[in-house]
This record gives sequence, structure tokens and C-alpha cells, in this order.
Amino acid sequence: MMHYLDANATEPLRPEARDAMLAACGITGNPSSVHCAGRAARRVMEDSRETLAARFGCQPGDLVFTSGGTEADALAVHALGQGRRLVIGATEHDAIRAAAPDATLVPVLSNGPIDLGVLAGILSAGPPALVCLMLANNETGTIQPVAEAAALCRVHGARLHVDAVQAAGRMAVNLGALGASSIAISSHKIGGPTGVGALLLAPEHSSVVPLIRGGGQERGRRGGTPPVAAIAGFAAAAMAAVGTEALAALRDAAERAAVIHGAMVVGGDAPRLGNTTCLALPGARADMQVIALDLEGVAVSAGAACSSGKVAASHVLAAMGLGALAGQAIRVSLPWNASAADVDAFAAAYVRMADRLRSPLVSRAA
Ligand code: PLP
Repeated sequence: MMHYLDANATEPLRPEARDAMLAACGITGNPSSVHCAGRAARRVMEDSRETLAARFGCQPGDLVFTSGGTEADALAVHALGQGRRLVIGATEHDAIRAAAPDATLVPVLSNGPIDLGVLAGILSAGPPALVCLMLANNETGTIQPVAEAAALCRVHGARLHVDAVQAAGRMAVNLGALGASSIAISSHKIGGPTGVGALLLAPEHSSVVPLIRGGGQERGRRGGTPPVAAIAGFAAAAMAAVGTEALAALRDAAERAAVIHGAMVVGGDAPRLGNTTCLALPGARADMQVIALDLEGVAVSAGAACSSGKVAASHVLAAMGLGALAGQAIRVSLPWNASAADVDAFAAAYVRMADRLRSPLVSRAA
């Protein structure tokens, strides 16, 4: 039996999303077609747009469907960053880092939140910027002080794009309340299907320059026929997702079990999502930990990426100043349907994994 504790990679599909998709799959039309079949598809898409816009705080006409979070982030940087210098948090996801490779990095404190003092200095020292800041970090769950950053951006005439991909459905997310220029969300992190996401725009930015041109869909802001059934599943998942507070007790139990066996909780004293913990185990390579737990039927992930037999330390953990520990941490992220049995299985597997990987024989071999 598999115990799936890798929700931040992708959430299990919610039954509400599955039902909505199955219903929408029965519709044949293209939402751009004027005939009755096209209008039926369009109705499903526009109803879903209204649901998502209301859920995350924008006008329906200011929500642009994309292929996922990566494209929504790239569209934001492309459209809102034109003619501006780019400023991003040091622990942003690769979706932002790749879209803004020459950006100025805002350092983070050792427990994860960005250094607001440094951000203020950067913003006051140059021409108007586009700042990109994630609301919740994918590896540690750290919640960034986005409202404070938005206030600084307002003072200095900067725009603020918020990557809310990990936050949406897991904590309160509202474009208007955050005071941001735009936010990116992604269906599969909420319990909807993969392959769809959205960029939500503040009214003054609603006519963005497209990244993908084509048939003029999404009011000319994103070409391509929209995936109507996936969009219906996205909206249904967003309505079913009610936050992660209820998961925090299970997450804390998993954490306690790991800490007793030598783990350190990374960023544990900063505000965090209730479903996420990042556990560093001194002396044990992250990829070896993931494999050992997988062999025990427990799915988690490593902050560090492994290529050509070498473990590259996570840029998130390196930015937090973890040094060698940045290559020795795993992420445990509880999905919406996690149970006490999943956490018990994790705790039992963690003990065996920690004992084995930290035995002197294995350490010498590694
Ligand atoms: N932003 C963050 C913070 C993420 O964690 C991810 C995916 O892990 C993305 C963006 C990219 O989203 P998607 O997988 O929908 O392209």
C-alpha cells in the first residue's frame, strides 16, 4: 500500500473535480464556436471562470486560463515586467527563476521569509520594478510576508506578482486583499487535474500582452483552445479545498517522529502551510532518504535534485543558509486526504531509514 505524502508535487484528484470533469467531457463543442454545442462548452468555461474569480478575488474578465502555474508565472513576468527591472525572492520556484534569469534576488532570513529591509532598499535604489514573490514555498511551506511586500511596492511604484501556486486552496488567497498586481494558481496543486492554471490580474493590468499568440482566445491574452473539462475540474477542486489547518496536527505528529530520530525541522518557527514540513537529517543524502522511504511504500520528495549521480543542493535551502544540510533534507507534504495511518507508516519507515542511512558503514560508503 502506498502512503502518498507528496501533495506539493501534485495533489490527488478530488472526487468533486472528477465528477465535474466527467460531466463536462460529455460536451462536444469548442467554446469559441457560435453554434449551440460551442455555447454549451462556453457556458461551462465561463461558469468555472466566475467560480474561480470569486474564490480568489478578481473579476471574471481578469482571469486568464493557462496550461498551469509555470505558464501563469511566465505570462506575468512577460506582460507585467515589460520595461521594468525584475526583483524576485531568493527562494522562488524555477518557474519564476527561469522566466527572470537576470533578476535581482531578495535574500531570505534563516527561517525562510524574505528580508523586507533589503527589499525596501532595492526598491528605493532604482527604476520601477516588477517584484515576484511566492505566497507559500513549495519545499518548506514558509508563508512569505506578501501584504508587507505589497505595501512597499505601492510606496515605490513597483508591481507585485504573487506565485500563489502552493498557497491556493491551502490558505486564504485573495488578489484584492493581497494588494498584488497579479497572482498565479495551478489546478493540480488544489486537487484538480494537471494541465490547467490561471493568471488573475488586478483591473488596471487586465489587458496583458500575450506570451502565446494564436486564435485570440482569452480576449487575446492567451491563444489556444481551452481544456473545458479540465477547467471545470479546476473550479470544482477550488471550491472543495478548504485550507490545511486540519492537517497541521498530522504534520506535527510526523515531525515529532522524525525529530526524535535526529531530524531538524527547516524553517519550523516561521509561519507555514499546515500540510508541509521540510526535514533535514544530518549525514544522510536526500535522494537516499527518498529512495529508502519509497521502498517502504512512503512517497515523499527531496528538495535536492539528483543528476549524473550528484546531488545538487536545493537553492531554497541554500538561500536559507543550511550549508551541507541543504542536500540532506526531504519534503513531506500531506495531501487533502491524508490519514493517521499514513503518518504512522511514515514514522515507522523514517526510524528504519534513519538508522540504516546513518549507520557508520553506510556513511563510509556514501
Ligand atoms: N510555482 C510554485 C511555487 C510551484 O510549486 C510550482 C510547481 O511545483 C509551480 C509554480 C509550477 O506549477 P505547474 O506545475 O502547474 O506548472
